[in-house]
Amino acid sequence: MTTPRVLFWHRRDLRLADNLGLAAASEISPALTGVYVLDPQVITPPEHLPPMAPARLWFLIESLIELQQRWREAGSRLLILEGDPAAVLPQLAERLGAEAVLWNRDVEPYARERDRQVAKRLQADGRRVVVDWDQLLIAPELLKTGGGDPYRVYGPFLRNWRGQVQARQPICTDAPSGLLDLDPEHVPTGDPLAALRESHGFEGADLCPCRPGETAAVQQLQTFSDGALSSYEPDRNFPGVVGTSYLSAALSVGTLSPRQAWVAAQEAREQSRSDEQLAAIGVWEQELGWREFYQQALFHFPELADGPYREQWRRFPWENNEEWFASWKEGLTGMPIIDAAMRQLNQSGWMHNRCRMIVASFLVKDLICDWRWGERAFMELEVDGDLAANNGGWQWSASSGMDPKPLRIFNPATQASKFDAEGDYIRHWVPELKHVNTKDLLSGDIAGLERRGYPEPLINHKLQQAHFKALYATIRS
Ligand code: FAD
Repeated sequence: MTTPRVLFWHRRDLRLADNLGLAAASEISPALTGVYVLDPQVITPPEHLPPMAPARLWFLIESLIELQQRWREAGSRLLILEGDPAAVLPQLAERLGAEAVLWNRDVEPYARERDRQVAKRLQADGRRVVVDWDQLLIAPELLKTGGGDPYRVYGPFLRNWRGQVQARQPICTDAPSGLLDLDPEHVPTGDPLAALRESHGFEGADLCPCRPGETAAVQQLQTFSDGALSSYEPDRNFPGVVGTSYLSAALSVGTLSPRQAWVAAQEAREQSRSDEQLAAIGVWEQELGWREFYQQALFHFPELADGPYREQWRRFPWENNEEWFASWKEGLTGMPIIDAAMRQLNQSGWMHNRCRMIVASFLVKDLICDWRWGERAFMELEVDGDLAANNGGWQWSASSGMDPKPLRIFNPATQASKFDAEGDYIRHWVPELKHVNTKDLLSGDIAGLERRGYPEPLINHKLQQAHFKALYATIRS
């Protein structure tokens, strides 16, 4: 009897350990080949979609290079192919004589439609297709209100989600080993990663706090759960403090699984020595809950990707000043906390969550610019750019999303005083203002002579806030 050949398609699960689809594939047969398809829709998307961020491409390529090595160590190989998965995968399955093809599901509208096409073609060729959830602790279909509807509000979602996670007590599966690489002569040759590695154009790898690859993700999780996790609350709020996990890119491309993150939190609970530590761990678990809330929202309401959740925001009279937008994007607004944050994003590919909220509020409610411009700009720059989380974050900040609070407006100076009280974060990213006294640095009220080339503020927050509220009144009813 011949050993059946199986193909495993990696997508947003770039790891061998605790990969549910991969574990299922290795149970069918050890004659397992991995494949990742560099899909032009994702790598070089059409005009109407945001381009792939250089930082994210860098993270992806480096993670894939490590994953290839991991596959070799496990006894088989990971192929990297280019093209439309609906064409490339059936051809590969044919060439290898694969009996079954497995992958883990995705919540994004494009990926879901693509997967339907791929499955249809493989099944038409008589191959078995097996898919299941891996990138979420709880499958979105299992999270419904008492009335059987998807959740639109985070609080009740969190209670149900947490209850289900606790009832299941997630465990992590091992990486497969002892795989067989049968008939390597049938395997396509060539490796497009080398060319991409040369051309991604990201220069901030040393500044980026997110580290690519499965090994680094596990190490980062360990470092965080041994250290900053126990004081996550309140440290997570301060952009100048190393107070968060920096695991967003790893969770987004799946060099780390959400189960690994959850299990680490449970181990930290067992070792915690105070109520404060337990509370801090609970807050981090809630952040994992936000991640899943936005993913299930996108799964159930794919229209979120196209515009505001709340209808009336379609009528909002955005002013969309292109020069202001360009200044915001480059970190040249004349408001130090905004510019520090946007420069952190431009240079390192990552931005602290507190600052993401501050700059998003500023773009939408001070510069009166359509939040979708900001959403796109973030995707162009973020190492962890993730449709569900980014869209969720922008709709929350714009007040156009599922958040029940009608309007949130952040005062940048107040935010800076609360969360960067000594101005360390601002001075780090806006070094030309190092000499300015802390009070002026935080308020942005810097005397002309002290500016030394730093721009004057684009707007006056108080005036713009009143103006924004007047515009908001026109869509309220
Ligand atoms: P930690 O504080 O250590 O949190 C652990 C994990 O929980 C994160 O890695 C992330 O996976 C998840 N998480 C935390 N907060 C959120 C949140 N508010 N929403 C969803 N998931 C969360 N996150 C992304 O992963 N990709 C994005 O493209 C993205 N865009 C955002 C845009 C805006 C306007 C806002 C306000 C937030 C955005 N976030 C995004 C959420 C959040 O800012 C980042 O997840 C977080 O800063 C990542 O840092 P960390 O890994 O150290 O997080």
